[in-house]
Amino acid sequence: MTSRRVLLIEDEPGLVLTLGDRLRAAGYAFEAATDGEAGLVRAVGEPNVDLVLLDVMLPGIDGFEVCRRLRRRGLRAPILMLTARGEVRDRVAGLRLGADDYLVKPFDPDELLARMEALLRRAPATNDVVRFGDVEVDLRGMEVRRAGEPVELAALEYQLLCYLIEREGEVASREDLLRAVWGFQRPPRTRTVDVHVTWLRSKLEPDRTKPTYIRTVRGAGYKFVRTRDEVTPRR
Ligand code: CA
Repeated sequence: MTSRRVLLIEDEPGLVLTLGDRLRAAGYAFEAATDGEAGLVRAVGEPNVDLVLLDVMLPGIDGFEVCRRLRRRGLRAPILMLTARGEVRDRVAGLRLGADDYLVKPFDPDELLARMEALLRRAPATNDVVRFGDVEVDLRGMEVRRAGEPVELAALEYQLLCYLIEREGEVASREDLLRAVWGFQRPPRTRTVDVHVTWLRSKLEPDRTKPTYIRTVRGAGYKFVRTRDEVTPRR
C-alpha cells in the first residue's frame, strides 16, 4: 500500500519538525508549506495530497482564507484545521469554509493521528455523486441538484447533509451533529439541528412529512438511508 500524503501548512518551524517526524514514523508521506500561498500551490498542484493539516494563524493569507480557496479550487481531500484559539466562532468559521475537523493547539500528537485516521477512513465516500430519489449530491463539486435543477442549501444545511451521507445507515445524535457541524465543544440544548433537518427535508424529500432518506431515530438522532438499488445502482 502506498503511503498517504499529508500536507502541513504551518509557519512554526518547531511544529513542522516534530509533526514531520511523528507522521513519517506513522507511515505517512509528509510535506510542509510555511505560508498559505505556498500551501495552495502545493495542495492544488499536487492531486495526490490525501489530507491537509492547516494552521489558522499564518503569515499573509490566514488559514480560513486558504481553506476557502482550497475548496473553491476543487480540493476534495479532508482538511483538518489547527487553531491556537479555542473560540467556537473560529471553529464554526473553519467548518463553514469547508474544513472537516479542527484541533485546538496545543494538542496531543496521538489525538491528531487518531483524527487523521478517522478523516481518511471517511474520505473515499467523498469521491462520488450520491443519488437518492430525484436528488444528486455532488460531493466533489459541492452541488446539490433535484430533478437536474440546482438546490440552494445554506452552508450548514450542506455540511449537515454531508455529515449524514458520509455515515450512511448510522445514527448521528443531536450532540454529534452540534459538535461536528456547528463546532460546539459542549453542545447546548437547542432545536437547531431539528430545524435544519426540517429545512433539508423540505428541499430534498419527496414527502417532507414522511421522510424517506433523512430519518428520525426516536430518542437517538437522525440517519441517512437509501434503498439497496440506490446504494448500488445498476449500470
Ligand atoms: Ca501559525
